[in-house]
Amino acid sequence: MVSEAKLIRAFRKVKSDVVKLQRQVIELNQGQKELLDKAAQAKTKRTKKPAAPKTVVVTKTARKKTEYVASKDGEKYHIRSCPFAKNIKRGHRVIYKSKVKALSDGYKPCSCV
Ligand SMILES: [Zn+2]
Repeated sequence: MVSEAKLIRAFRKVKSDVVKLQRQVIELNQGQKELLDKAAQAKTKRTKKPAAPKTVVVTKTARKKTEYVASKDGEKYHIRSCPFAKNIKRGHRVIYKSKVKALSDGYKPCSCV
């Protein structure tokens, strides 16, 4: 036989245990929150450190002037970046601002054009 008083006492004990547990849970949550905050701070510190390399994008005047280069003693004309164009000696170089002029002078287009 369990007396009512004993039951009530047991119940109260359980209740106080529950309250204690709740308090612990709250404390744990706070502790966790602090930890998370610290972790977040550490993270931002870490990500700040290697100061993101500034990507200096040098946009070379996108619109390239297309000039054509021909050799006085050759029969083809090239774009400036063509290796053949680079091989043409200074004195032999003829520069054209347009294909038409190079063509009208009798030059044929190189495969680079
Ligand atoms: Zn060429």
